[in-house]
Amino acid sequence: MKAKIIRIDREQIDKEALREAGEILKRGGLVAFPTETVYGLGGNAMDPEAAKKIYAAKGRPSDNPLIVHIADMESLKVLTPEVPEKAAKLAAACWPGPLTMIFKKTDAVPYETTGGLDSVAVRMPSHPIALELIRAAGGFVAAPSANTSGRPSPTCAEHVKEDLSERIDMIVDGGSVGIGLESTIVDFTEEVPTILRPGYLNRERLSEILGEVRIDPGIMSEDSKVRPKAPGMRYRHYAPKAQLIVVEGSTDRVVDKINELASKLQKEGGMAGIICTDETIGRYGSFIKKSIGRRTDEEGIARHLYGILRDFDKEEVQVIYSEAFDTPQMGQAIMNRLLKAAGHMCIEV
Ligand code: AMP
Ligand code: MG
Repeated sequence: MKAKIIRIDREQIDKEALREAGEILKRGGLVAFPTETVYGLGGNAMDPEAAKKIYAAKGRPSDNPLIVHIADMESLKVLTPEVPEKAAKLAAACWPGPLTMIFKKTDAVPYETTGGLDSVAVRMPSHPIALELIRAAGGFVAAPSANTSGRPSPTCAEHVKEDLSERIDMIVDGGSVGIGLESTIVDFTEEVPTILRPGYLNRERLSEILGEVRIDPGIMSEDSKVRPKAPGMRYRHYAPKAQLIVVEGSTDRVVDKINELASKLQKEGGMAGIICTDETIGRYGSFIKKSIGRRTDEEGIARHLYGILRDFDKEEVQVIYSEAFDTPQMGQAIMNRLLKAAGHMCIEV
C-alpha cells in the first residue's frame, strides 16, 4: 500500500476531496493531515481497531495514549462526563488552538485510544483543513504526530511521506505547519491544572486565564526522580543518528566552545555539524552548519527545529553541536524538545 497524497489549499478548501479523506477515517483507515502544531496521523477515535492501527503504523508503544481531536464544544460532552469550570474557561480562551486538555473519560472512549487510562486527552485544532477533516470523519479523530515513533514530529507532508507512506491510506498535504512544536498539554484531572507538556501556550499565558498552574515535576529535568505523568514524555523523543550536544551560555563563549569541540572532532577524523543562528553562522569554521533562523524570531526557531534535526540525518556527521534557544515565550517548549533529542547532553560555558 502506498498512501494517496492529496494537496489541499488552506485558503480554498476542496471539501469534496476532504469528504473522501473523511470516508477513509469512517471506514477505519488512517489519514495524515496538517494541524497548526505538527502533522497528525488520524484514525477514528471511537474505533478500537483504528487506534491499534495507529500504534502499529507509528511503531508506538500502546501504553502511550492518543489525543482526540474535535471540531466543536458539543463533541466534548461525548468524551467526558464533566468539564471543570476552569477548563471551560481555558477552552473559551484558547480553543480552537494549540492546547490539549486531559479529562476523566466516558465509557464511549475506547481504552485502546487512551492507552488503558481512565482519562482522555482532547484538542480542538485551529487549522481549517484539520477542522474540516474532523467534521467529515464524524467528529472524533485520534491523532498523534504523524512520524515513526522516535523520529522528530513532521512539520510538512514530505516528512510524513518519509516515515509513513507505506503504512497509511492517505496524506493530506496542506503545506508547512505554523507552529512546529506539539500542543501544550494541561491536565484537569488534578486539583490544580498541571502542564504535562510545554508548548506554544506557556505557563504565564495559562496563569493569566486560570490563576495557579503547576508544571509536572516529571518534565522539569532529566535527573528528576519523578516520572512524567504523560506517558509520551517518558520515552526518548528523538535521537538523531549523530550525537547531539547542546552548548549553553553567552553567545561569545558558546561560539568559541563549539568551534573548539568541532575542530577537535575533525582533527580526530570525525565530521561535525552545527545548529546555529543567522547571527552566528559566519563565526564558525568549516563544519556542516545549518541556521535555524534569526535568534530574535522565536516562532521561526520553533518552526524549523524538527526539520533541521531531520536534515542532519542526511549528513555524514558524527556529532551535532547546537546553540541553546532559551527564547522568551516558547523557550521552555523549544529547550524541552532540543534537550530530549540530545538525551540531555548539555555543556554550560
Ligand atoms: P502526540 O500524540 O505525539 O502529540 O503525543 C501525545 C501526548 O499526550 C503523549 O505525550 C501522551 O502521553 C499524552 N497523553 C495523551 N493522553 C493522555 C492522558 N490521558 N494522560 C496523560 N497524558 C496523555
Ligand atoms: Mg509525537
